[in-house]
Amino acid sequence: MKVIVVGSSHGGYEAVRGMLLENPEAEIQWYERGDFISFLSCGMELYLEGTVKDVNTVAYETVENAEKDGVHVFVQQEIASIDEKNKSVHVKNLADGSERDESYDKLILAIGATPRRLDIPGKDLENLYAMRGRNWAIKLKQKMVDPDLKHVFVIGSGYIGIEAAEAFAKAGKEVTIVDHNPRLLGNYLDSEFTDKLTQEFKENGVNFVGSVNVAEFVGEDGKVKAVKTDQGTFDAELVVETAGVIPNTSLVEGLLDLDERGRIKIDEHQETSVKDIYAVGDATKVPYAPTGELSSIALASNARRQGRTAAANAAGRELKMTAVSGSSALSVFNYHFASTGVKQDTQEKCGVTNAQSVLVEDWAVPAFVSEEAGNAKVYFKITFDPTDGRILGGQIMSTRDVTANINTISFAIQQKATVYDLAYADFFFQPGFDRPWNIMNDAAQEAVRQLN
Ligand code: FAD
Repeated sequence: MKVIVVGSSHGGYEAVRGMLLENPEAEIQWYERGDFISFLSCGMELYLEGTVKDVNTVAYETVENAEKDGVHVFVQQEIASIDEKNKSVHVKNLADGSERDESYDKLILAIGATPRRLDIPGKDLENLYAMRGRNWAIKLKQKMVDPDLKHVFVIGSGYIGIEAAEAFAKAGKEVTIVDHNPRLLGNYLDSEFTDKLTQEFKENGVNFVGSVNVAEFVGEDGKVKAVKTDQGTFDAELVVETAGVIPNTSLVEGLLDLDERGRIKIDEHQETSVKDIYAVGDATKVPYAPTGELSSIALASNARRQGRTAAANAAGRELKMTAVSGSSALSVFNYHFASTGVKQDTQEKCGVTNAQSVLVEDWAVPAFVSEEAGNAKVYFKITFDPTDGRILGGQIMSTRDVTANINTISFAIQQKATVYDLAYADFFFQPGFDRPWNIMNDAAQEAVRQLN
């Protein structure tokens, strides 16, 4: 069997690794149009902040390693078109200009997405950056040490914008971050959490402005020098645009069924509308566990699960894609937070209308342990369906890293567990780690009291 995998990021990597596990005899060809495989954008902040020194190590695969395992890797080679009738792809070698066709038995598309750029006056000025992939990582890193750069303007306060803002603030730049939403991280956390994070940003020199429409990039000598918005004009010698992504699906327009936003439609086995062509990652949607509907959640964790699922099915072993909840975690200066599933403030966006929540604030470990000894306040919110107590979401934040609790909530959502199940669920107690009742028990017990 000959399998062609297109794209070398999270989805493509797992499709290749999955195929090696499922069918070691398969001939695997792996294509990447960029000049580097498997760059890990998730590790970009660690590189920008200097925790990781060499940009080339921010990856989880090398050409040599993959080839050692028998994979044929083609870098700087783009899949330009697909002939589904003859089961072949047309390959363009971007390094030497040559072209050829390659046949396949199974084709796995992990072609991902590209940062969305604002189509407004001034969009062609210099120093308007995105934040995705190795090339942008290198350019951003250069800017961090540019003494002429004083003001950075970040558009979009999702995870990526937050990472950009924090990295540039730590590099001593004056940072403004704006969003359409009234609250920063508004899609990830409710206001009890985002209010604290906005304050945390302010105390560390980052100015957040919400409910903003960006109108124009103002230039001088071809370079950006300010950004005009409906809430004033801001100085900016660098703009980082992190306002969402666009799926890279022009390759399959007219061939595969796409949704209204150009994402590839897939079934529960990751197969597209054309037999033997599978798609995974940010160019697709995932099954959303809280509602059972398909949802667009651009996360590496999802792309990886989809990659393995596609590989299993392409190899002939039936495997359904796991329902996921958009679980994610991040640090903002002194705080660590994580969330999963439905949030109270934004439930309608997930197709939920009647969610109920309980917020609990308590110490991480028994109160006799001092803050100097590592104790810290923890804020935890559980969101559930009041009609049957089914758990729909969870959010947690603390200056102590307690984020892993959210994986328990994610699993509870996936298993359709209720607050009744969670109220007395068995979690360890040891004063160095936790309290006799984990904060998730406390929140679920309060939810049960409210429901009874
Ligand atoms: P992409 O990463 O978009 O990669 C697609 C690849 O396919 C590209 O390399 C592209 O060059 C190649 N390609 C496309 N078309 C062709 C073609 N025709 N021929 C050949 N090659 C082609 N997610 C998390 O879960 N946790 C995190 O902490 C996290 N942090 C992030 C931080 C940043 C700064 C960014 C930008 C993203 C982060 N994400 C995180 C999201 C995660 O990186 C994406 O969800 C993930 O990369 C999606 O993987 P993918 O395989 O769909 O495709």
